[in-house]
Amino acid sequence: MTPLSTINDTTLRDGEQTAGVAFTVEEKCAIARALAAVGVREMEVGIPAMGPVEIEAIREIARLGLPASLMAWCRMTEADLEAARACPVDTLNLSIPVSDIHILGKLKRNREWVLAQVRHFVGAARDAGFMVAVGCEDASRADPAFLSEVAETAQQAGALRIRFADTLGILDPFSTFEAIAALRRRVDIGIEMHAHDDLGLATANTLAAFRAGATHANTTVNGLGERAGNAPLEEVVMGLRHLHGIDCGIDTHALPAISALVAEASGRAVAANKSIVGEAVFTHEAGLHVDGLLKDPRTYQGFDPAELGRAHRTVLGKHSGSRAVIAAYAQLGLFVSEADARNLLTRIRDHAMCNKRAPSPGELAHFYLEVTHCPRSLS
Ligand code: MN
Repeated sequence: MTPLSTINDTTLRDGEQTAGVAFTVEEKCAIARALAAVGVREMEVGIPAMGPVEIEAIREIARLGLPASLMAWCRMTEADLEAARACPVDTLNLSIPVSDIHILGKLKRNREWVLAQVRHFVGAARDAGFMVAVGCEDASRADPAFLSEVAETAQQAGALRIRFADTLGILDPFSTFEAIAALRRRVDIGIEMHAHDDLGLATANTLAAFRAGATHANTTVNGLGERAGNAPLEEVVMGLRHLHGIDCGIDTHALPAISALVAEASGRAVAANKSIVGEAVFTHEAGLHVDGLLKDPRTYQGFDPAELGRAHRTVLGKHSGSRAVIAAYAQLGLFVSEADARNLLTRIRDHAMCNKRAPSPGELAHFYLEVTHCPRSLS
């Protein structure tokens, strides 16, 4: 059976929870519009309990009338539910800790209390007209038997989904698969994976969760989120397409643009080597790779950058070969002989080591004049 794979993007909730990140209402609306435009059909847009400013931002997003279901994040308290009533969202994610260290240490409660909270607040939120997801905080450290009990209680109370939060990012794809598969055997409702990237495994764990029967994934653009962040939207979408053959209905051509928008609004620049959207991930310098790409792009291409509206780019540097030099100069409209290419390569390597960047077209033209016009020792 091919599982349903729905992206529930949380750039506007967990993404904004990144230390030091705060979006204006205008930025939130721009991001929500961009998410809807790329095809994200569910998004978590804020935390009503934060107060009137946050509630107003959620209302503004709702006023856009986007073709997306909106979710708000709440704890299981009367005050949080009351704040959520002021928000025109379809779904509430009602969060409750499920590991003993959180239940006993943080809340000074016990497991029975957790189950009673789930029963009460799922019912209360449904009575208030919301669809409900039960967010299981620190699910990765919960006793699996108790986690199953929470999930069954949520289902009986009328929740449509449970969220498995690897709050600390401590799972790997194998443990994620086991945990989600165990839940899948116990409940029929939706299962959403909420992964964190503390060990660099958020995307891998999200894909493993889908393979084990999860129906939804929380993502953020550029992997924004607490600490090391969440599973990046762009990675999950491309990973599902290329590794699982699953199309989540996202227009991948628009991913670089939404990445740039969120980088700007969050003040968090995207690393040059960030997968999918990093500036340098389709740039090639090494002689062997450039030679292969020039002969057939598939030689050094895992997926076609055109899927993202991007293209391979070659630059000249320390690791270039003469074929790349000849090709680069041909693009500038300059013919270069094999002998000239070898001399130019020496010049280009010196430049790369001194400047730690590729030469500009102007610099390349300058090297060309030096190498082809200066009298050389051989001549
Ligand atoms: Mn989180």
